[in-house]
Amino acid sequence: MPKPDYKEREQFSYENISERLHAKHWAHFPKHIDPTVSKLRPSRPCKVCRKNKKCSETTWECKRCKVPLHVPVCFEQYHTIEDY
Ligand SMILES: [Zn+2]
Ligand SMILES: [Zn+2]
Repeated sequence: MPKPDYKEREQFSYENISERLHAKHWAHFPKHIDPTVSKLRPSRPCKVCRKNKKCSETTWECKRCKVPLHVPVCFEQYHTIEDY
């Protein structure tokens, strides 16, 4: 993971560090589902779409939740609607 180029040099403190790492720790990022031996571009049913009774596959998943999701719409819904 590349280091974010924040303007933190002037206000560098332990507090800033822990806050930044905390954010990083909880952050959710989309990533492509890892290819397998049999499937170079694997796709899985999107969790949000499945809940909405739509059958739709995606090649993306949340790196943290390990849940297949379309990017960006379903990804955002999954992380902003509490009911999921
Ligand atoms: Zn979806
Ligand atoms: Zn997530």
